[in-house]
Amino acid sequence: MRKVSIFGATGSIGQSTIDLIGRDPDGFDVVALTGGQNIAQLAADAVRLRADIAVTADAALLGALQEALAGTGIEAAAGEEALQEAAARPADWVMSAIVGAAGLKPGLRALEQGATLALANKESLVTAGPLLMRTAAQHGARVLPVDSEHSAVFQALVGEETDAVERVIITASGGAFRDWPLEKLASATVEQASTHPNWDMGQRITIDSASMFNKALEVIETKEYFGFTPDQIEVLVHPQSLVHALVGFRDGALMAHLGVSDMRHAIGYALNWPERAELPVARLDLAQVGNLEFRAPDHARYPALRLAWEVMDTGGLMGAVFNAAKEEALDGFIDGKIGFTEMTGLVEQVMGRCGAEKGLVDAAMTLDNITAADHMARIRARQAIAAK
Ligand code: NAD
Ligand code: MG
Repeated sequence: MRKVSIFGATGSIGQSTIDLIGRDPDGFDVVALTGGQNIAQLAADAVRLRADIAVTADAALLGALQEALAGTGIEAAAGEEALQEAAARPADWVMSAIVGAAGLKPGLRALEQGATLALANKESLVTAGPLLMRTAAQHGARVLPVDSEHSAVFQALVGEETDAVERVIITASGGAFRDWPLEKLASATVEQASTHPNWDMGQRITIDSASMFNKALEVIETKEYFGFTPDQIEVLVHPQSLVHALVGFRDGALMAHLGVSDMRHAIGYALNWPERAELPVARLDLAQVGNLEFRAPDHARYPALRLAWEVMDTGGLMGAVFNAAKEEALDGFIDGKIGFTEMTGLVEQVMGRCGAEKGLVDAAMTLDNITAADHMARIRARQAIAAK
């Protein structure tokens, strides 16, 4: 039996992970499940999977979780400290599916105890890629990509030498507004931005897909995970989301990874790696699909994309600044304080201000310095939002 934990178990990725694990009750010994406000879901899954401990990130919900788990023998805990403690419990395989920079510390704890970390939480690679990969190496642990594009690249690289790679192309659906007239974007509502044409995901990543901040994060994720240089990475708009990524080799060959838009493929690949197991995903019928459509990204429609290369060129802790500013801008949009098209300018402004702050972005990549850069970026972003 493999010991597994799921961080962010109540979310979209967490639930897909539970779907796969729940199909093989004898194969897995569930250690910890973590969630947020959805106590009923967290408790129900903890009971069904017979977890050792369930943790809600919200300290105020401890009583509710204790009540929901009363008499089950399952430990209930709450708050950030409890999350870290649960993450430090020995497990062989851990799903990192908390949304946002909040996923970083639990992921590091899991790597420190040698677990294989299946990483959906791209924000931790953007914020602290070198620290995360270094921590894995120091503890004989491993990070496996779960983002669909990165899982696709990872699979295309099996048996290949990385230095034979010329370029990596990650695809983007174009999100909710890919066909909207540009002048309408400024008035896009939260509800409109929260509907994805192909994928069923959490609200934050869905809005990030509409703005392409998600793809900007993924470009940086590609650099941090695989070590490719910024000029080797390309983004291609592919409205159908059937080709997830392509890897181009020095002999001109291009290897594409195709599949239906179901995250259980990438999660299942990370769960069974290095083997391939039968997975409950629909099979792609290309004759029925008929045509595959591609186009170059329109930078006027997706200004956020360009920021990824700025972050990579600056390096250091600019990834932490970028991600934190993006999270605050997204909150500002969700709360109705700024418009959809104001997010990019705001993030760029925070990057400029934090970049000019002496010793902030070029400080060594330690958890303390990352936390400081993240904190400063959030303060600057909130100030800029308040000034609107
Ligand atoms: P979601 O919003 O559906 O779920 C997020 C989970 O994190 C929930 O369990 C929530 O309770 C928990 N959470 C939220 N804030 C937290 C905090 N501050 N501390 C602790 N826990 C917290 O999100 P999702 O769509 O499942 O995405 C999860 C991660 O996976 C994100 O990093 C996202 O970018 C990435 N990802 C998602 C998809 C997808 O298809 N949904 C695809 C690729 C990558
Ligand atoms: Mg993705």
